Amino acid sequence: MIASMPARLELIRGHVLAPDPTRRQIVRWPDALIRVDERGRVRDLSPATSACEVPETWPGAVILPGFVDCHLHFPQTRITGSASGPLLPWLERSVFPEEARFAEAAHAAAVAGEFCDALLAQGTTSAGIFSSSHPVAADALLTALDHRGLRAVTGVTLMDRQAPPEVLLDVDPALAALDRLRARWHGHDDGRLRISVIPRFAISCTPELLRRAGAFAERHGLLVQTHISENLDEIRLTAELYPQSRDYLGVYEDHGLAGPRAILGHAIHLEEDAWARVAADDMAVAHCPDSNFFLGSGCMPLRAALDRGVRVGLGTDVGAGRTFSLRRVAAAAYDAALIRGAAVAPEELLWLATRGGARVLGPADRVGCIAPGFDADLVAIDLPPRSGAAAPTLEALIDAVLFRHDAGPVRATVVRGRPLWQR
Ligand SMILES: [Zn+2]
Repeated sequence: MIASMPARLELIRGHVLAPDPTRRQIVRWPDALIRVDERGRVRDLSPATSACEVPETWPGAVILPGFVDCHLHFPQTRITGSASGPLLPWLERSVFPEEARFAEAAHAAAVAGEFCDALLAQGTTSAGIFSSSHPVAADALLTALDHRGLRAVTGVTLMDRQAPPEVLLDVDPALAALDRLRARWHGHDDGRLRISVIPRFAISCTPELLRRAGAFAERHGLLVQTHISENLDEIRLTAELYPQSRDYLGVYEDHGLAGPRAILGHAIHLEEDAWARVAADDMAVAHCPDSNFFLGSGCMPLRAALDRGVRVGLGTDVGAGRTFSLRRVAAAAYDAALIRGAAVAPEELLWLATRGGARVLGPADRVGCIAPGFDADLVAIDLPPRSGAAAPTLEALIDAVLFRHDAGPVRATVVRGRPLWQR
């Protein structure tokens, strides 16, 4: 922990919205006290009494667990909003030329700072992050995350074919770099930073790279982050490159990359049979609807995935996603579910943006709840002015947090009791 880190808040008072640990529900505490211990964990959450003299910490705000962004790309920060989709031409025209710049440590370090600031300004406290294929960029990102105090899971993005040479890395140096990053960063600061295994997607990886990535993840018990079934052209090319596998998910299964440590980005066009395997093997899905709209990829069947018991988190998927705000992504998820004719309630979406994401990225016993023993990772959000004297219902509060894009900015972002960002 560096010396310039803000001091811990020991006592926080305010209007708390606390997700249930397992059910997709939010419990409201209109006036609560959160006590934080010396390690940054919640000691207790209790109603404030009328005799309580502690002032409200952020008057007019509601306090939630920090947002958990389950899928985004650090080296795409500066190309966010590049309208050159759909997926494969967008990668070629917008993404690969920018990612090539991350061979330069100075460029990577500059963007890493912007990236961390953008996460904190939107109330995100934990993120599952794709870097570029360059080890120097992943190291610059981890250094910035360490200094800013954010929680993250990241690593080099593995790719050894089907892209310009500047963004590729051969199997041996890639695995060696991954192992160095693991030794240096995995579990850093009591598990705040972790290393994951990130094959970009099946297209960009040779069978040998996938197989060795799967073995590496298995040997070290690491999470696997990747993409699946985002776009119809991508699915066709994957089937051509991996004709032996039964389907797209089968490619990952055949190379040791499936199972409960896998986080699958998108999963828009999976067949019923693949969804059944995702559920049976307890794989997680990162749902990125803003990105899916921008690249015209389609709408993931969120309602059906939840009803199957699949662990789902939300992802901005910056830079195909146009925002670092997981609240806007939750709003897009609401729209996408309606378009598919199977609604998902705003309360469930707010739960997915916090607790649901924590059950995907982990550690599930430390993140995503405001309860004793959990890390005090919090966001305070200003409530917009409202009409009438009656206290707003829980539903009205959640609607204001998720859907009033022009009101209710983030007031403070807190990790382990430390206010890393305040307005
Ligand atoms: Zn992505």
